[in-house]
Parts: sequence; C-alpha cells; structure tokens
Amino acid sequence: MGDRYASFANSGPGRTLVRRLGLPDPPPLRRYAPGDPLVSGPVLLGAAPGGQLAGPTRHLLVDAGVEVLDRPAGQEPAAQEPAAEKGSGSSPPLAGLVFDATGIGDTTGLRALYDFFHPVARGLARCGRVVVLGTAPEACPSPRAATAQRALEGFTRSVGKEFGRGSTAQLVYVDPAAQAAGPPALTGLESTLRFLLSGRSAYVSGQVVRVGPAPADARPADWDRPLDGRIALVTGAAQGIGAAIARVLARDGARVVALDVPAAGAALAGVANEIGGTAVQLDLTAPDAANRLADHLAGRHGRVDVVVHNAGITRDKTLGRMDPGRWDSVLDVNLSSQERINDVLLDRDLLPDGGRLIAVASIAGIGGNRGQTNYATSKAGVIGLAQSLAPVLAGRGVTVNAVAPGFIETRMTARMPLVLREAGRRMNSMAQGGLPVDVAETIAWFASPASAGVTGNVVRVCGQSLLGA
Ligand code: NAD
Repeated sequence: MGDRYASFANSGPGRTLVRRLGLPDPPPLRRYAPGDPLVSGPVLLGAAPGGQLAGPTRHLLVDAGVEVLDRPAGQEPAAQEPAAEKGSGSSPPLAGLVFDATGIGDTTGLRALYDFFHPVARGLARCGRVVVLGTAPEACPSPRAATAQRALEGFTRSVGKEFGRGSTAQLVYVDPAAQAAGPPALTGLESTLRFLLSGRSAYVSGQVVRVGPAPADARPADWDRPLDGRIALVTGAAQGIGAAIARVLARDGARVVALDVPAAGAALAGVANEIGGTAVQLDLTAPDAANRLADHLAGRHGRVDVVVHNAGITRDKTLGRMDPGRWDSVLDVNLSSQERINDVLLDRDLLPDGGRLIAVASIAGIGGNRGQTNYATSKAGVIGLAQSLAPVLAGRGVTVNAVAPGFIETRMTARMPLVLREAGRRMNSMAQGGLPVDVAETIAWFASPASAGVTGNVVRVCGQSLLGA
C-alpha cells in the first residue's frame, strides 16, 4: 500500500533527480496530531471593502491561538510581513492567507483579490493554507454581485493548483443571514476555518463549502473533543477508511458503534476494542438489517447522534460485460442500504435534533469512471441523497453531507493495475494519494456539533484531483 515513489522523491538523492528531470514532486503533507497548533506561523487577514466577516474572523482566529496580521485590500505589505519564504529575515513565513471577499459586489471589485494575494503569493509557507470567504451566488442580491461571487471559485481553484508544496486553497460561502447575525451564528464558520487551516485538511484542496447560520449553543466546550458524549455509528469499520473514521471520531470524544459484515468480525472487534467502542456484525444487504441495527442502537444507547455511511464495494466491469449481480450488489450496498437505514432511524425517532448524517461518496460519482458505471451511479446517488435530504432535515438542525474521496491508499486502491494506480496517485495537486485519516478528519469536521449550518455539502478529499474537476 506504500507509495515507494513518494518515499524516493523525498530522499536525498531522490530530491535532486526529481527536480532535475521535472518529475512529479510529492511534498510531505502536514497532518494533525493531538496538541498541534492550528497553524505553525502567522496568518494574514485581508478584506475587500464592505465585507462583514473580517472582524469576526479575526476574533475567532485569535481565540484559536493564531497570530493574525491584518491588511485591507490594496494596502502594501507591512514591514513585518514576510515577502517570500526564503530570505525574509527573521520573521516566519505566512502559514495562511484568509481573505473576506463578501464585500465584492461587482466584477470590478475582483481586483481586490489581486491586490491582496499578489504581494504575498510567493510568501506562503510549505503546506500553507488559503481561505477565501464569499457569499453564495444564489444568495446575492443582484446578477452582478452573483457573477463576481461566482468568479471567486475560479480564483481559489487556480491558487490551489498554483501555490504547490502541500498548500491548499478553499472557498467558503457564508450565508448572508449568518454574516448579518455575526457570532455566535458563525460557529459553523469557526468550525470550518479550524478544519481548513489545520493539518486535518491535508488532502482537501480546491473545494467550495457552504456554511449557514448556527444556533447559539453549537460551540463545543473543548475544541479537541467536540464529540464528547455523542454516539457515532460507522459502517464498514473493520478496515481501511472506515477503521480510520472510527478511530478519529473516538479520538474526538465519540462512543463509536462499529459495524461490518460477520466475515470481518475479528478485524471489527480489533478496531472496536482499540477505541473502547462496540462492534455490530451485520450485512447491510440483509432484508431486516436496518431494523436490527435500529434495535441495537435503541437498546444500547437510546439514540445515535452521528451516522457515517462508509461501507462500500466495487464490482468493476464495462457495462456490456456486466452481469446483473454486479450492478445490483453495488447499488444496494453503496446506496439503497443508506436510504433504508436513514428511513428507519428517522421513522423510529433515533436521530435526535442536531444529528449528523454523513455519507462516503467518491470522485467517480462526480467524474464517472470507465468500468464503473455501477459504482459511479451509486456514488452520484449518494451525493444526491445528501443534497436532497439536507433541506428536509435542516429545520431540526440535522445536517447531511457527503465526502467524495479521490485516490486513497487502501487495499481497494492497492488492487488497481499499476499504471492506473500511478495515474491516480500523481494526477492531483499533491502528486500523491491521500490516507484514510484524511477522509476521517473531513468526516469528523462534519460530525462536530460546531459544524451546525454546514449542510448539503459535497467535499472532495482528493488532493484536488484532475478527475471530475
Ligand atoms: P474497504 O473495502 O477497505 O472497506 C469497506 C468495508 O465495508 C469493508 O470492511 C467491508 O467488509 C464493508 N462492507 C462491504 N459490504 C458490506 C455490507 N454489505 N455490510 C456491511 N459492511 C460491508 O474499502 P475502503 O477503501 O476503506 O472504502 C471505504 C469507502 O470509501 C467505500 O464506500 C468506498 O467506496 C469509498 N471510497 C474509497 C476510495 C479509495 O481510494 N479507497 C475512493 C473513493 C471512495
């Protein structure tokens, strides 16, 4: 499962060769470890005139222990701001660039992006973070404002591809109601910024996230254990991405119910024991699976706060050669079983207000993939499920989101033919595959009570893969 090329490229002789020959250069990524600061240097904060978010953003960054340097758009860099990572004297390079673009009301205002980012574009540290804050085009008061706000997407995605060296860039559209209300309605933004600036989002780049208003009590007592007291179900938890999700949710304080097929019982018990959770052996395709699972959750915990639909299978064949069994099994495990479980949990009132439904999709569900009509159909359906259910449950404070992993180093991808595997690993802004923990951290952000108002999103964990981009 290891990426031998990445290990070689980051070795002494490997580095020289990779640079000389212009080969893909996968940088070591900054990943979160408990106790790590959000960022390892100052963050430069700027704003286009007329925006409402720079002030609250500054407060929440300072509250998170971040050193914030302020600069409005159009103003030259202050003396203490490093102009470039190398040769910038004693000041540390900028660890992040955050820009409030909500004030941009027409396309001429987009110049504020250039004015803010141009002087510091080459001054971002390795694995630096760029976040642009905007207003969703559909929520803008005029076509001109919507046009300008939509343009932010192209800017941000290009920055993600251009800055390199493990840095990431994202666009966060903040609902105007949350902008106007200010803190604490901005807790969803706070949770999102903490995720996007930290090492938890190592393999997430070029994404557009929508954040709505949060209720007053959404802020956790402890940002390192936001899931304290929560019950979380993770399906397909015996190995791979599911096992990583179970571990990360437990680390963040959740009591985890880990589910997998009976054949994976030993591995499942190992994961459950390791994290002090419980194991449920159940085949999700069994006709009574949803009710048996609901019985277990009702009997043991009386409820489930976080549901992570991760179990998934592939049965690849080109369409003309695909037998109906391959089609049916993939659609059933990957998609229909999620609907059955959601329906039963909602019917039996086991998902309380403020609950979290999170589904694992795939970039194959966005871009499609040869030989995967069944899989891509199921994963696109998962995206549809998240987007259609989110508004239905929003009134109860239940959020519904999906993650779409790209190439993640697991047994699933280790089985791919060599050429396809290498293409999957390198054809993204990080020039490497992601790790199961990268998907898990993204799910933990969605799962947090602080991520109230973060709903209906599909976030790719793909290192900004070219597939389906
Ligand atoms: P994996 O095969 O290692 O793990 C999937 C788990 O789901 C297994 O433990 C399996 O036993 C379980 N499972 C399968 N059918 C089940 C059923 N009927 N009932 C209960 N459990 C069942 O796969 P993974 O790579 O860890 O993938 C996890 C999820 O991420 C899947 O939904 C997959 O489609 C998705 N995904 C993975 C990648 C990747 O690069 N690995 C990329 C995109 C999406």
